[in-house]
Amino acid sequence: MTRKKLIAGNWKMNKTSAEAVALALEIVQAAGKQSEVDIVVCPPFTALESVSKAVDGSLVKLGAQNMHFEASGAFTGEVSAPMLRAFFATHVILGHSERRSLFGETDELVNRKVLAALKNQLRPIICVGESLAEREAGSTLKVVQAQTEKALEGVSRELAPAIIIAYEPVWAIGTGKVATTEQAQEVHAFIRGILTKLLGEALAQRVRILYGGSMKPANAPELLAQKDIDGGLIGGASLEARSFLELVRAAAGAA
Ligand code: PEP
Repeated sequence: MTRKKLIAGNWKMNKTSAEAVALALEIVQAAGKQSEVDIVVCPPFTALESVSKAVDGSLVKLGAQNMHFEASGAFTGEVSAPMLRAFFATHVILGHSERRSLFGETDELVNRKVLAALKNQLRPIICVGESLAEREAGSTLKVVQAQTEKALEGVSRELAPAIIIAYEPVWAIGTGKVATTEQAQEVHAFIRGILTKLLGEALAQRVRILYGGSMKPANAPELLAQKDIDGGLIGGASLEARSFLELVRAAAGAA
């Protein structure tokens, strides 16, 4: 089964609305018509509307970095899935390790968000991954299994093809340390196995599993050539059009 590669940029808390539009337009101009690789950009909430207009009419898709699981209500500072949909967002990153470690997000909360995203026709990019201490203690697979199974609890077989998993070893995020291709492929294959158990072989083969953690033009081709690595969730290297576009090209080359 060939899965279309996906390169998603997580801009985190970077870029004013004007800066975000400039970056989005550079990406659209260079790659907005190519269809070999799916491209998603995830600006901060404050730039969603302007970037939505910048990518309109191109093949570049819009994602958010987080959302609340309720549709509306007294949740100061939060935004909901219908609000994201109103900006034509199609994807949302959920359970990023920074949300888990800095904002106390639990597996249960991530699961509620996943279900809310799917209910609102948003594709969740569900982040899982172990900390350095967990890897050193030999519990990588156990941690990834618990996070993946809990995140997917209650996801119907019908909606399952919309999910995207991002394996992001926490020790590799923003650190310049990248997992070796063997380390990454091992965990990706393991996640595919969990999906097979939960959803059956045919559906599990359709779900894309991205790698995230210091992915750069220099290390991307080898990572993206692995059997179960279907793209990348990119932090630092997504903040400049040149490096982000090189990753898109690397994914096209590995397709
Ligand atoms: C991320 O935060 O999802 C990420 C992968 O960051 P970086 O590429 O900077 O390691």
